[in-house]
Amino acid sequence: ETTNFAVRVAPLGSHGQVLVLAEDQTERVRVEAVRRDFVANVSHELKTPVGALSLLAETIQDAADDPEAVTRFAGRMQHEAARLTYLVQDLITLSRIQGAEPIPTPGQVSIDEAIHDAIDHCNTKAVAKDITLVSGGTEGLRIWGDDELLLTALRNLIDNAVAYSPEHTRVVVSVRPAGDSVEISVSDQGIGIPEESLERIFERFFRVDAARSRATGGTGLGLAIVKHVAAAHAGEVSVWSKEGSGSTFTLRLPAFGGTAVPVPPSIPLE
Ligand code: ADP
Repeated sequence: ETTNFAVRVAPLGSHGQVLVLAEDQTERVRVEAVRRDFVANVSHELKTPVGALSLLAETIQDAADDPEAVTRFAGRMQHEAARLTYLVQDLITLSRIQGAEPIPTPGQVSIDEAIHDAIDHCNTKAVAKDITLVSGGTEGLRIWGDDELLLTALRNLIDNAVAYSPEHTRVVVSVRPAGDSVEISVSDQGIGIPEESLERIFERFFRVDAARSRATGGTGLGLAIVKHVAAAHAGEVSVWSKEGSGSTFTLRLPAFGGTAVPVPPSIPLE
């Protein structure tokens, strides 16, 4: 590994003494490289759907007298436009939480409600693949944090579980108290993640299989967002996975009031 030093020399007094300041810039150089990579990745990710859109528009012009082709290409344009929208939304979410640590106005958040809303949001995609979404574990637990961020993180985890699982499987969301924290895990019976990729999947735009991720509408930012949501709560996210049998993502977040104790639900659970 290379180390970068910035050296500054300043004269000290009139006897020829000098002050030498050597500053280790390794971290600054690394952060700068990560930022450049990110900008390059964003440009590439934006160019792909924009390129496809302009090509499709041209094709439609040439196919003006073939209504069936026009309908088909218009459908593909909608698909590319949707992809662009998801990407921009995820980029905005990511830049917001990356910039604003810790959470500006934390409060108590009901985990049951967040899970209920997240499952609701992902249900259409799950039903289309005959995937059963179930939740279980301790009810009535609360965290100290931001309800929107928790919902975003859970949606991303459940979305992934559905996207990377075959039809007719189950996705289980479960909650348990863990001392001063609450653990929420999302388990699937999906394709799993190769061991050598496990430490990279939380990086922005890292995908095990880029073609598959794009086909399922993935932006490559979902898990980076989850990681930042956890960090903003002073919590963490971890993953267990076995190729071919499934994955479990676990979010560990601070319990409201400093200890994870259940309170009776104010809203009846379905
Ligand atoms: P994407 O939009 O590509 O899903 P994410 O950041 O959400 O981006 O996930 C990064 C990569 O991690 C995915 O492309 C996929 O390869 C892998 N991955 C995430 N969740 C799962 C899962 N539940 N099962 C298998 N692979 C997963």
